[in-house]
Amino acid sequence: MQGLMMNLPLQVIEILKYAAETHTSAEIVSVRTEGDIHRESYAQAYARAAQLAHGLAGIGVGQGDRVATLAWNGYRHFELYYAISGMGAVCHTINPRLSAEQMLYIIGHAEDKVLCLDLTFVPIIEALAEHLPQDLKLVLLTDRQHMPSSDIPFLCYEELLEGQPTTYEWPLLPEDSACGLCYTSGTTGHPKGALYSHRSTVLHAFFISITLPLSLHADSRILPVVPMFHVNSWGLPYAAPLVGASLIMPGPKLDGPSLFDLMQDEKVTASWGVPTVWLGLRAEMEARGTPPADLRQVVIGGSAAPRAMIEFFEGQGVDVCHAWGMTEMSPVGTHGQLPGPMKSLPQDAQITAKAKQGRRVFGVDLKIVDEAGTRLPHDGTAVGELYVRGNGIISGYFNNQEATEQALDAEGWFGTGDVASIDPDGFLTIQDRSKDLIKSGGEWISSIDLENIAMAHPKVANCAVIAIAHPKWDERPLLVVVPAGEDKPELDDIHAMMLEHVAKWQLPDAMVFVDELPLTATGKVSKLRLRQQFAEYTLPDVG
Ligand code: AMP
Repeated sequence: MQGLMMNLPLQVIEILKYAAETHTSAEIVSVRTEGDIHRESYAQAYARAAQLAHGLAGIGVGQGDRVATLAWNGYRHFELYYAISGMGAVCHTINPRLSAEQMLYIIGHAEDKVLCLDLTFVPIIEALAEHLPQDLKLVLLTDRQHMPSSDIPFLCYEELLEGQPTTYEWPLLPEDSACGLCYTSGTTGHPKGALYSHRSTVLHAFFISITLPLSLHADSRILPVVPMFHVNSWGLPYAAPLVGASLIMPGPKLDGPSLFDLMQDEKVTASWGVPTVWLGLRAEMEARGTPPADLRQVVIGGSAAPRAMIEFFEGQGVDVCHAWGMTEMSPVGTHGQLPGPMKSLPQDAQITAKAKQGRRVFGVDLKIVDEAGTRLPHDGTAVGELYVRGNGIISGYFNNQEATEQALDAEGWFGTGDVASIDPDGFLTIQDRSKDLIKSGGEWISSIDLENIAMAHPKVANCAVIAIAHPKWDERPLLVVVPAGEDKPELDDIHAMMLEHVAKWQLPDAMVFVDELPLTATGKVSKLRLRQQFAEYTLPDVG
């Protein structure tokens, strides 16, 4: 048809160009591995991304090449995101907490040409050096002055930029070309790659910006605790410059006191991260008796936000938005912002609604199905496996035919591996990962439900519920607790709390104490390792 609108490809670099030209007062503040604080505007970042693109081209990076990063949240990592994708290459973020074996696997699988790393990770690369591909170029994210002496011929990031032009002829790329790559972690078997396109990344930035306005607006100063190596920091390095929010990058310091100080000093208004980091911030807020002065919202996702955590932050006047998503989904799928009428419900009912994983963001369709693949109603009662479809969701895994074949159903929807219900208002409740559900006598028990209740006990600092094999019931729940102090909680007390919400047969058979819970590379409790740890555990005979 003639006279239709122009059709320009959606491109990631356009976001930074836009921010550079229009959001001139916003800034990127970074805690550097060198130890100091660094500030730059989006215009400076855009100019440096151009210099970096020239530098990368100079060491042989071309369109379609994968350039890996092993780095904390910081301005140089941000510049890499835009320079690499802007020049038509693919930014492959590597999680430094992966095992050596997994890291070598993904560097090989992605066929990375260059690896850019923070100073912190030099020992990791030195230890892997003899197994790395011979032609892999290694760039250290620092200046000449801070280059360490090493047997490895590291290139220096700032030297790559030095003297380069501050403009770059960014190529016009098809919007369905790849811009980013992130491998899943915390699973058995090899990590699998989610390959993001320019189109999916720009659209996802729009989706979350219209969905989470309390975090994402021109006056906000947002601190992504969620790392840039974990699903692009949930999209914040794209959404923040899009809306003109400032980014406060915490670098390697993610403990409660450091986060509190940075939030206080930099007037942070919103912060996003997994529940484990909020345990640290919570303890610091309790110790100081106040929240950071400007903090208005925390977004909690990656694993279920315990009700007690939501209650705490809300009680301090900090809005909690519980979100759910996956690496394979760019990642945000649902958000817990309450619709207007629900905001006038009693506080307790609001917290109950916020403890659910929330409603879908635009661009993500949800369905739940039974074991035969038949759709189940969104009535808040029916529980089934959750499938998703949308423009920000993978259509298969990167160069992995086998995993791709298992990923989608006959209708082309992606199977999340989560088990959930959806209520008539559109609120999703994740019951569990399907492999973490506890199957007792043919009935399912949700480990998340039980953890949520136990977390409200004042003597419980952290906990997890796992399945233990049982001769009669197949599996029974075991409660693993990190006590808050010397004075340990009693199982009877926790049972009494649980009985207000669950049936008697769902109560954990036993409780064990540990000093800490094993975490996955993305900071979530690793049920896999916990089950291995307690593989030989025998439950007491409770009948
Ligand atoms: P990842 O790809 O590492 O981000 O992990 C995605 C998985 O984390 C999802 O499939 C869920 O099992 C889990 N997850 C993410 N957010 C939540 C949440 N808010 N509540 C419960 N589980 C979550």
